[in-house]
Amino acid sequence: MRKIIVISDFDGTITAKDSLVEILNKFASPEWHKIARLINKGRLGTRIGLRKEFNLCKVTRKEFVNFLIKNIKIDTTFKNFLQFCRKNKFRFLVVSGGFGLNIKTIFKKFGIKNIPFYANAIKFNEDVAELKFPPEAKTCKTCSHCKAPYIGQFKKKGYFTIYIGDSVTDRCPARVADLVFAKHQLAEYCKAKGIKYIPYNTFGQIKKYLTSCSLQPRKRH
Ligand SMILES: [Mg+2]
Ligand SMILES: [Zn+2]
Repeated sequence: MRKIIVISDFDGTITAKDSLVEILNKFASPEWHKIARLINKGRLGTRIGLRKEFNLCKVTRKEFVNFLIKNIKIDTTFKNFLQFCRKNKFRFLVVSGGFGLNIKTIFKKFGIKNIPFYANAIKFNEDVAELKFPPEAKTCKTCSHCKAPYIGQFKKKGYFTIYIGDSVTDRCPARVADLVFAKHQLAEYCKAKGIKYIPYNTFGQIKKYLTSCSLQPRKRH
């Protein structure tokens, strides 16, 4: 049987609400919305944009973590989806344009263990946040942490790649994955660019789809 990997975005995909948006709404001055608009229009890369947004933020590590624990929930069907992946021997990987701290905090809260992830880092100096990004992908100058190379790596190793996302940082991987599940902004983007995708709202729906279909690599044209 073919090797399969499911690569998923974190914020707004595994979590019910985007934890970065919620943090910025709570702790940043309102100008962050202007920056977000530029990012969404593709006029500002997510790397520079995220830095600019968090420069407007006043928050200590403790406040940050406590806020996440109190306010961020996950898709209620997600844990069941992980079991489904394990049962079917699908690898599961999270690749996030947000922060590892958010992933660790939220997974811990919901008792989710041993899920590998790649993300940016956030450190705190009192109430000033300092962001650290992985090295820039050679092929992409816009993403804070371009997710497309992960897809490429696994394809090269012979994996059938499934990508799940919702937003701006999911555009690059959606262009190259074998099968794409998209909602919200990502779905609009795929539609506009003629990228084939399956609409979804929950991981439960993705499970249902994967159970009923036979997985074929995307045809190139
Ligand atoms: Mg997202
Ligand atoms: Zn990119």
